[in-house]
Amino acid sequence: MAGRLANRVESLQQSDIRRFSAWCARIGGVNLSQGVCDQPAPEAVKAAAKSAIDDDQAVYTHMRGIAPLREAIAAKVERFNGIKADPETEIAVGVGTAAVFSSVVLSLMDPGDEAIVFSPYYSYHVNLLKLLGNEVRFVDTRPPDWRYTSDELAAAFSERTRIILVNTPANPSGKVFHREELLEIVALAKKHNVWIVTDEIYEYITYGQPHVSIGSFPDAADRTVTISGASKTYAVTGWRVGYAVAPATLCDKIGVVSDHLTICAPAPLQHGIVAGMKLPDSYYEEMARDYGVKRDMLADTLRSIGFDPYVPEGSYYMLAGFEPGRFRDATHATETILEEVGVATVPGSAFYRDPKDGAHQLRFCYAKKMADLEEGCARLRKLGNQATRAS
Ligand code: GLN
Repeated sequence: MAGRLANRVESLQQSDIRRFSAWCARIGGVNLSQGVCDQPAPEAVKAAAKSAIDDDQAVYTHMRGIAPLREAIAAKVERFNGIKADPETEIAVGVGTAAVFSSVVLSLMDPGDEAIVFSPYYSYHVNLLKLLGNEVRFVDTRPPDWRYTSDELAAAFSERTRIILVNTPANPSGKVFHREELLEIVALAKKHNVWIVTDEIYEYITYGQPHVSIGSFPDAADRTVTISGASKTYAVTGWRVGYAVAPATLCDKIGVVSDHLTICAPAPLQHGIVAGMKLPDSYYEEMARDYGVKRDMLADTLRSIGFDPYVPEGSYYMLAGFEPGRFRDATHATETILEEVGVATVPGSAFYRDPKDGAHQLRFCYAKKMADLEEGCARLRKLGNQATRAS
């Protein structure tokens, strides 16, 4: 090789989420690892994207997204999230929530600044923060209810804190932050004058517990960036359409950074999402109900093989614990299950501040077609309840 690589990528590796997903594809297994969400997208969404292609909607869009999409997002966040946003100045569409998150971080944080993140966390949040030169301070949440204490939260703030990251419903825990928890976060963010960045990509997938957007609190509006996107809501994870809602001055910078990184989100697919945002409430209710059935089916399966599922209040992931003696650690468990019954999961250790906290947990994704999830559950049941494979 001609020269050395950058320090920032030295310890950066392919995520366990992708690693086990790729391994699963090689052996033709059932993929409950990466949240690929391989279910059919709504017909109206597909039809609108196809007709946008036929209409030659093929060139760069506005750097913050096409006007009809920003208008549809403004209507949606007002109605569903309780957030008033000007589509002209306070909404930026980008290439999926990961790229939007990067633009937000680049707009708010200088190298060495700190972000507060709840553990377990979505590894892309933490890896992107680090890749962009930032430090992370964690607040540990613990199963089964993913609580933390006010003292632990308060202690995470320092002179260098620039953002506190909320992910509700959370990946991988499925925690849905309650109003009181969010109010406490707002109070601390005000006290320390930091930004609140909230990733709400699973906002429509809750099971009885209401989704509350921290950006809807009047006290928080001027310091909150709300990130969401189309991936999960319309089962189009590969389309890469996400967005941020933020105060105008910040939103302008998010748009400019996003333009430099990616220019714009794919034009015809933005048109597809406009159609998605016109779907009736029944679409979202039906989706949440369907995930509720899948969640319960997976939880029953896991109990029947001696796992302890932490049944989520939201999202489409489930962490489940296993007896420490059953497998050496979470990676061993993932590899063994993939090899023995052809079902891919993610080691819990991939999601924790201290990997030891997840050493006896696996993450299962149930965003699957029913037939595929049934096949996955049937295979998991073959593992039985007793076996100890730690040796
Ligand atoms: N959000 C999905 C997950 O957690 C997919 C992530 C990804 O592929 N990077 O599995």
